[in-house]
Amino acid sequence: MIISIRRNATREQIDEVCERIRDFGYKIHAIEGEERVVIGAVGVGDVTHCLESLEAMAQVESAVRISAPYKFVSKEFRSTRTRIRIGELEIGGDEFVMMAGPCSVESEQQIMTSAEAVAKAGAKVLRGGAFKPRTSPYDFQGMAEEGLKLLAKAREATGLKIVTEVMSDQDVALVADYADIMQVGARNMQNFALLKTLGKCGRPVLLKRGLSATIKELLMSAEYIVAHGNPDVMLCERGIRTFETITRNTCDIVAVAALNELTHLPVILDPSHATGKRSLVPALARAGVAIGADGMIVEAHPQPEKAVSDGAQSLNLTQFAQMMNDLKPYTELWKLQRGSSSAKS
Ligand code: PEP
Ligand code: MN
Repeated sequence: MIISIRRNATREQIDEVCERIRDFGYKIHAIEGEERVVIGAVGVGDVTHCLESLEAMAQVESAVRISAPYKFVSKEFRSTRTRIRIGELEIGGDEFVMMAGPCSVESEQQIMTSAEAVAKAGAKVLRGGAFKPRTSPYDFQGMAEEGLKLLAKAREATGLKIVTEVMSDQDVALVADYADIMQVGARNMQNFALLKTLGKCGRPVLLKRGLSATIKELLMSAEYIVAHGNPDVMLCERGIRTFETITRNTCDIVAVAALNELTHLPVILDPSHATGKRSLVPALARAGVAIGADGMIVEAHPQPEKAVSDGAQSLNLTQFAQMMNDLKPYTELWKLQRGSSSAKS
């Protein structure tokens, strides 16, 4: 249930509403709002009776039932888009946001060269893994804190924001010291201990869709983070596992549009992991802009042939700049479309 409180309600009146919600056996999960208080209540009880009772209270403007199991992230909870602010950058707003950089942070020179080039080409966020989830335990596992320090140095030099993966709840505090956006990898989408800890991390989260996860499961994982206190979550379609072998994963491109129907959270596309092949990345990127993603995360490396991870899907820095240039007419159209759709909502 979502209960909107009238603007002029006093603290006591709000407490009175909370008490009544609890009396009906519901748990209050979040109270939010700058202008007005909106209370989210979850649980099992006599919904109809409870809603009637709440609506009869003078300080209650409306009380509605949310049918989706993912309550706070659903469009029923909020019909307007969530805009995530990171300093002057906004994700989910009026600009298409490009995030780019290597799969892994490998050296100071590699990350600095990448950062300067992607910033020059128009990216606003630098990606780079310092903790890497690798299929084989014998593969490069990432530079850990040393890698985070290099990312911070690249931010200092370029003004780019940093997105980097956190693999364990034990590393959340450390990664949050350096990152602007905490990335949850596909393999960790249902690591509930990690999701709960990210609810309290004080940083926006980029949540990637699991290798075999449904759209609903992705939304339920986002709900964990939001229900534990962090409303700044963006969802990422990065391809799912199917019988197809020509591409590394199968991009469920329509998931972007489906998510836009179901949730107010920003949606990001990762055309690199979705294809596994650099030649396919620009085409999928165009599709991502056209279908209404809020942004994109792309792997780009100064020398993809020497990359320690995901070289085959990484664009070189010239190819990345070319792709950004080629995307311009699409992002212009995106802006026009976004302008007219937000005018409607
Ligand atoms: C990555 O971004 O490099 C990565 C490991 O992605 P995913 O979790 O989507 O496989
Ligand atoms: Mn990668």
